[in-house]
Amino acid sequence: MLRVSAYPLVEVDEAAALVLDHTPTMGVERVALAHCIGRVLAEDLSATASLPAFPSSAVDGYAVRSADAGKALRVLGESAAGRPFSGSVEPGTAARILTGGVLPDGADCVVMFEDVQLDSEVVTTPTNLREGSNFHRPGADVRAGEQVLTAGTQLGAAELGLAAALGFPRLPVFRRPRVALMSTGDELVEVGGKPGRGQIIDSNRWALLAALREVGAEVRGLGIGPDQSDALRTLVVDALREVDVLVTSGGVSVGTHDLVKPLLESLGTVHVGRVKLKPGKPFTFATLSDRKLGFGLPGFPVSSLVTFEVFVRPALRKMQGFAQLHRPTLPVRLAYDARATADRTEYQRVTLRREGQELVAESTGSQSSSRLMSLAGAHALVRIPPGDQGIKAGTVVEAMILALP
Ligand code: AMP
Ligand code: MG
Repeated sequence: MLRVSAYPLVEVDEAAALVLDHTPTMGVERVALAHCIGRVLAEDLSATASLPAFPSSAVDGYAVRSADAGKALRVLGESAAGRPFSGSVEPGTAARILTGGVLPDGADCVVMFEDVQLDSEVVTTPTNLREGSNFHRPGADVRAGEQVLTAGTQLGAAELGLAAALGFPRLPVFRRPRVALMSTGDELVEVGGKPGRGQIIDSNRWALLAALREVGAEVRGLGIGPDQSDALRTLVVDALREVDVLVTSGGVSVGTHDLVKPLLESLGTVHVGRVKLKPGKPFTFATLSDRKLGFGLPGFPVSSLVTFEVFVRPALRKMQGFAQLHRPTLPVRLAYDARATADRTEYQRVTLRREGQELVAESTGSQSSSRLMSLAGAHALVRIPPGDQGIKAGTVVEAMILALP
C-alpha cells in the first residue's frame, strides 16, 4: 500500500537554504600542525614576528659596502646560515656570506661568488654594486603584526609552512563533524557477500563514506539498518549519542517500508520532506535534539550522491567553518540538447573537455537515478530549470564543477 506524502514539495534553493539555516558551526580545538592538514582555521592569524627576522643573504658570495665597488677588499671572515659573523664590514673589507647567513653590520649588499675575483684572502668586486642587492630585508616576506591567514581558510601545504615559520606549533581549527552513516533496506547485503534473488549489494554506504571523508567528516559506520522501525530506532538513537550528524540512505519514499521519515519525525523536526529535484525528490532533512542534524537521503545511488552534493556537503562545510560552502562554478557550452523535467529542477551529470578557450559539456548518457555510471567520471553537474523548454545545445550555462578534466 502506498501512502500519499504529507510533505510539501519544496524548491531546491529553498530546501538548501533551510538546511544551511539550521546548520550550526562546530566548536574550536587547538591542534598540532601535523593534524591540521585539510582543517579549517578558526581565527585570523597574525604574525608575531617579522620574516625574515634579520637581513638574510639570498645568495652565496661576499657581504660588502656598495661604496667599495671595483675595489680589492680584505676578507675578514664568514657568515654562514645559523653562524653569523660577529665583526663588522668596514671600508676596504668584506665577509664571505652563504645563503641564509646574516648580513654583517656595515655591509649594505651582497655580491655573488660568480661576480668577484678572489686572490688568496683578497676579493675584487665589480664596478657596479647596488645597495640592498642580493639579501632579504627584515620583514620583506611578512611584517610583524601583519594578518597572514584568515579564519575560514583551509589549511594546506603553504598555510601550514607559513604557520610553522611564524612559530605556531598548534592552530585553532574547527572540530570535524562526526557523522553516523547507515544504509537501510532489507534487500541489502554487504559487499563481498553473494546477493540472493531480489537482493542487491549495499553500494551507497561506500559512495557516501567517500563523499563524507572528502568533505572532512569523521565517519562512524552503522552498517545496514533493517526495514523494521523498532530496530532502526534503536540503532539510530544509540549512534546519536556520539555523533553530530546522521546520514541514512533509503527508506524515504512513500512505500510502507519507508521508515526513515517517521523515525526522524519522532526524534526531532522534519524541515524538508520532499524537494522539486531530480534526482532526489524524497530528500529529507531534520533537526534533532542538541542541534544535531538528520539527513535522510534517497536510496537510488545517484539520488543519494546528488542530494549529498546539493544539501549535505555545503552543510558539513558550514559546520567546519569553511568560508566557501559551495563547489565552484564555471561557464560551459552544452554539446547536447538538455531536456527539462516539467516540475523539478534537474541536475544532469556531464563530462567536460577543452575546446580552445571554452569548456564543452557532454552528457554522461542515461541519467537514470539508479545508474551510477552517469556520475562515475563526471566533471560537473548542470542545473536544468523545470519547465518544457530545456536548454539547447550550444548554450553557455554555469556548471557546478566536481573535478576538472
Ligand atoms: P528506497 O529509497 O529505500 O525505496 O530505495 C530506492 C532504490 O534504491 C531501491 O531500488 C533500492 O534497492 C535502492 N537502494 C536503496 N539503498 C541502497 C543502497 N544502500 N545501495 C544501493 N542501492 C540501494
Ligand atoms: Mg528501501
